[in-house]
Amino acid sequence: MSSLLVTGGTLVTMDARRRVITDGGILIEGSRITKVGKSSEVRRESNAEFEVDAKGMVILPGLIDIHVHLAQAMLRGCADDTSLIDWLQKFVWPLQGNYDAQDGKASAELCMLEMIKSGTTTFLESLLHTRYGFDGIAASVETSGIRGVLSKTVMGVPGYGAASGIMHPGMVEDGETCLREVEAYFNRWNGKANDRIRVWYGARSLGGCTPELYRQIATGAKALKTGVTMHLNEVREDADYTKREFGKLPTEFMDDVGLVGPNVVYAHGVWLTELEWKILAEKGATVAHCPSSNMKLASGIAKIPEMIRSGVNVGLGCDGGPSNNSYDMIREMKFASLLQKARLLNPLVMDAETVLELVTINGARALGLGKEIGSLEVNKRADLVLISFRNPHLVPAYNPISHLVYAATGSDVDTVIIDGRIIMKNRRVLTLDEEKVIREAEERGARLLDRAGITIEPKWGYV
Ligand SMILES: [Zn+2]
Repeated sequence: MSSLLVTGGTLVTMDARRRVITDGGILIEGSRITKVGKSSEVRRESNAEFEVDAKGMVILPGLIDIHVHLAQAMLRGCADDTSLIDWLQKFVWPLQGNYDAQDGKASAELCMLEMIKSGTTTFLESLLHTRYGFDGIAASVETSGIRGVLSKTVMGVPGYGAASGIMHPGMVEDGETCLREVEAYFNRWNGKANDRIRVWYGARSLGGCTPELYRQIATGAKALKTGVTMHLNEVREDADYTKREFGKLPTEFMDDVGLVGPNVVYAHGVWLTELEWKILAEKGATVAHCPSSNMKLASGIAKIPEMIRSGVNVGLGCDGGPSNNSYDMIREMKFASLLQKARLLNPLVMDAETVLELVTINGARALGLGKEIGSLEVNKRADLVLISFRNPHLVPAYNPISHLVYAATGSDVDTVIIDGRIIMKNRRVLTLDEEKVIREAEERGARLLDRAGITIEPKWGYV
């Protein structure tokens, strides 16, 4: 079994006592952490094969992004400053409806490369349509070394909430086929790559499934003992739709069809009401807060501090290329904090420590991986990132947690270790050919726009 020693850094454990260990170290044997403590204690009798010097760095549990669209990485900058309906109908859906499996793989690898380079070690992909090529994307998770939960889209109606019948034909899938495919992908990939890959159900938003199909998803997830994720209450119209169709609030409706539980992650939750927080908290479901996306698409501001106080598990998500336009969780943390302070006119809410919990332990719990990842503790999987603090915007470091949330960016991440394996060292990713991934995305992106008949004209034109 290979062994790796990381020493000399400021170790933010995120354990139950939230210990921060100066001159801290970690011993990793195989894929798991076997010692955590002061460097000198951890080094004693360790005989590790390899050692990483973390002097001047903060050692942090790998970040967990619980709402990602891999296929949208290639669509960054395609739909800026536009209304949600135009965003979907004129840009995102026609483009995604023209993807083939090679485009899906190219975009997914671009996204994984960006995530690794900015410290994300685990992600939850929420809606993989069949045309993006599930097998190719799962194979890329395997080779890139990242930890990924891949949700295969399940839909039965080509609609979205109150405005139905608007989806691009290339995006439309049939409910029975979707359910069969989830099972097939689950059998093929769930638990593969030393359990780095998990397969979930990705239910389409309200209006995209009949109540019966949502029930079938709930039954299927129970039988496979797996998870379900879905966009909910992102837009105000979600509640208009469920009230009109079923006389209930969106979460009440989801509860009726059996889809509120500890294995469920709802993305956005902008328009959730107090009653809905209560249902989510009682049943142990998670909300994936996506502050950049909600701001950019003017969806509204989720009431995150109130939700947390009600007992709802909340994690953080970067969402997608056209809605964020970045997959940098460190940047996202700052937005998550400042947005709530501005909304509530209260600088005391969403302190840096709370925000760091969203991207570590809360994210792990959301994915049913609370015992495996999210903190640096003995017996957990060795998913950790080393962030260089020898940069002008990070000195002097009186409080590393403050710098991580308010001052750092993803490009400060120096080294990434996932499942005990060094995936990035001195900012060089060892598992993916960075140049090739970038070139492939550029070429495929240009061809995709051509195929979809979409041109992106800069407002100020080119000279
Ligand atoms: Zn989304």
